[in-house]
Amino acid sequence: MTFSDLGLSPKVLSAVTDAGYTQPTPIQAGAIPHALLGKDILGIAQTGTGKTASFVLPMLTRLEKGRARARMPRTLILEPTRELAAQVEENFIRYGKNHKLNIALLIGGVSFDEQDKKLERGADVLIATPGRLLDHRERGKLLLNGVEILVIDEADRMLDMGFIPDIERICEMIPFTRQTLFFSATMPPEITKLTEKFLHAPVRVEVSKAASTATSIIQRLVKSGSKPWDKRETLRNLMKAEDAELKNAIIFCNRKVEVSELFRSLLKYDFDAGALHGDMDQRARMQMLANFRDGKLRYLVASDVAARGLDIPDVSHVFNYDVPIHAEDYVHRIGRTGRAGRSGKSFTIATKSDTKYIDAIERLIGNKIEWHDGDLSTVVASEGEDEAPRRGRGAPRRAGRKDDDRKEKGERKPRERHAKPSEAAPPEAAHDEQPVAAEATVADIGERRARKEAIRSENTERKADRNEQRTPERGDSRPQRDSNRPARHRQEDNDATVGFGDDMPAFMRIVAKV
Ligand code: AMP
Repeated sequence: MTFSDLGLSPKVLSAVTDAGYTQPTPIQAGAIPHALLGKDILGIAQTGTGKTASFVLPMLTRLEKGRARARMPRTLILEPTRELAAQVEENFIRYGKNHKLNIALLIGGVSFDEQDKKLERGADVLIATPGRLLDHRERGKLLLNGVEILVIDEADRMLDMGFIPDIERICEMIPFTRQTLFFSATMPPEITKLTEKFLHAPVRVEVSKAASTATSIIQRLVKSGSKPWDKRETLRNLMKAEDAELKNAIIFCNRKVEVSELFRSLLKYDFDAGALHGDMDQRARMQMLANFRDGKLRYLVASDVAARGLDIPDVSHVFNYDVPIHAEDYVHRIGRTGRAGRSGKSFTIATKSDTKYIDAIERLIGNKIEWHDGDLSTVVASEGEDEAPRRGRGAPRRAGRKDDDRKEKGERKPRERHAKPSEAAPPEAAHDEQPVAAEATVADIGERRARKEAIRSENTERKADRNEQRTPERGDSRPQRDSNRPARHRQEDNDATVGFGDDMPAFMRIVAKV
């Protein structure tokens, strides 16, 4: 089958040819013909399957008739994160190069004014995160009754992030006669319920099970001692051993605080690394991602929440610094490599306490994962591990984590790398600088202080920036922690402060009347 068999318009076909695509992917072949006929679609597909084009291409074809009116967008695409929303915009620009369409992107972390202007001009395509969309709607700047096509993308991720009540509200604001294109990688019961409520006789297109991992990925488990310095050493050794084959890699951690710590440690050991996690502001995240995508950074340390769904083509390696607690995150993580038929490698660092998580992953993927160099029974406990407290009575006080790192198999003290704070350091890095090693020279300390100051002042600027973006009526009403929120998010919340930022679901911002 070719793209010209699908019924797309000549303008769209020409843009697809320019993008270099010759054959539609299975989700595109399955969804596009029905979407062009105006039917509702239930697409069960992960990122990496070409699902974005499966809704963007038919939308472009259908948008060729008619034009937008002020404040009444013709189509609406809901995305769970700013990055995903920005990626969908890029897709509209790429495939819509032969169309004159107004595209508005409503995401948090950027000013309302620019977004208002775009809405005022009349948007053919509105791409939004739920929180920011509802903010605009409540400010009276947006009418949703002109929406002809609604796309709900990454619905299971929306569920993870607590956005389902917002999605329901938004669906109820859009005319019943609309076409709905709905995508999710998995179908938990809450999502099935949502589709039953809001889709009309949908055509179901399922391209692969969420539990499947690409066969082109070599997966290995790597034994390690359980202390952070053991795991960091295991990781560094792996990275060195893989160096010749390694083009670029994403290194996944379970928590934001580990992202920060590992990132700093890798910089100290002169690895060309960046970090990506939910607390970084939009500008810093996009910049970091762009640097990684353009090959300016070889390693990206990331948390699941920050990285899921990002379009980073051609990653040669995935390292799981932590075994993911949710088995399906393993599938998403290693799905970053081995894309579009390319080969890829994934290494998962495992400690004795990870056994139950590994079992769950193996059950989910239906396969045993091979050990790289012997299983956990061959792990030799590092000094003081598990059996003895590290600072028992009479034991000399350790000089700090830096010493622990250096103690690792007698490695020489690495040269401090001077990363530009704006490029490299995640915001909390400034507040969480590692203790100064006992043998650090006075010059070292002075230099470190100066760097810390630079990061701190940049963070203050960013904070001021963020405060400016907040809506006055909501600026101070940060959400109370909701014990019903999914465990995955409670876990991220524990690490630091920020939470949803501007993508906060509306129901969490309702001020209770007493
Ligand atoms: P997505 O699942 O939408 O995130 O797409 C994953 C990647 O596949 C993106 O980098 C797209 O540019 C690429 N892609 C989409 N459709 C095709 C196609 N028909 N042939 C080759 N690559 C494609």
